[in-house]
Amino acid sequence: MTSPTPSVNPVEIARIALKRLAERGLAPTPENYAQFYNAIVTIKSPESKSSDELQHAWQVLCKLDDALAEAVDTTASLLESLSESGQNMAVSLGHLQHTRRTGFEASVAVEQTRATMEDLLEDIISSTHTLHATVSASHEDISTIRDSVKRIEEDLSFNRKLLEQDALTGTLNRQGLDHLLVREVKRAQRSGGKLSVVLFDLDDFKQINDRFGHMVGDQVLVHVANLARAVLRESDMLVRYGGEEFLLLLPETDLNGARFVVDRMRLVAGKTPFMHHTQRIDVSFSSGVALLGAEENGRALVLRADEALYRAKHSGRGRVEVAE
Ligand code: GH3
Ligand code: MG
Ligand code: MG
Repeated sequence: MTSPTPSVNPVEIARIALKRLAERGLAPTPENYAQFYNAIVTIKSPESKSSDELQHAWQVLCKLDDALAEAVDTTASLLESLSESGQNMAVSLGHLQHTRRTGFEASVAVEQTRATMEDLLEDIISSTHTLHATVSASHEDISTIRDSVKRIEEDLSFNRKLLEQDALTGTLNRQGLDHLLVREVKRAQRSGGKLSVVLFDLDDFKQINDRFGHMVGDQVLVHVANLARAVLRESDMLVRYGGEEFLLLLPETDLNGARFVVDRMRLVAGKTPFMHHTQRIDVSFSSGVALLGAEENGRALVLRADEALYRAKHSGRGRVEVAE
């Protein structure tokens, strides 16, 4: 998990843009810094953003970053060629001045032409220096802006992770599942690997809330998430699918493997009840298991697991049912 990055402030970007405009004597119209402004203005606080909007802001930033990277390269090579031509011209001027000192046979007309050329060259060298300084400043500006864009990207990535996480249990939430499901289904279908889904729902959880209170109920949910984490492989994914309903996404796992995971969870849950002071709170759950079919999409897969869970609930609870 990424650690929180320092907060990036669009005002800061606008401030840099405005400062640069002023330095160049340009009017601070929105058009003059629209490219940066538009990219940044799309990013507001994560709470007010849907995942799609974040995704869009992300894409804009990536494009902007590409453009900036190109600008950094261009200004860098421009700087290099400016230095080079400055040096070449200085050498030419040196030659000219040297010839003037030693060329006794030169006529007055040639001497005048030479003097004019020297003046011209000096002018060009001086302009090149100025140009070099300007490009150098632009190069630094672009690098600064690029750093800011990098920080915003990091922030966005951090916020997206937060958006896709369940605040109580720290597992993925349903929004996070949407992304994962698409990715994992594609991956399984590409590689011909097996992908299983387990959906499990705590039995009579309402009673736990009623007996011990909602706060204890919350702690039991955290406990269950930790139990699940303890039996999962690193590549497995745990999602809080609903209130007291969790989903496991198990790559490279067939139905037997998925059932094995459920049995392990049941075993571990039996051995590790939640303790509320000295009171033991046992948790039982019902589960539905489904294996991804050829040509099936993620939604259909989860739906089948849900139907199996429904059957498990209605055939006595504490059971696992496998989807056809
Ligand atoms: P069943 O065996 O049929 O699943 O019974 P149940 O009591 O588990 O299911 P029901 O749907 O009747 O009740 C679910 C309960 O879960 C009710 C709801 O208040 C509680 N719940 C949902 N989300 C949370 C939560 O975040 N914290 C707590 N403490 N309780 C929650
Ligand atoms: Mg329940
Ligand atoms: Mg439920």
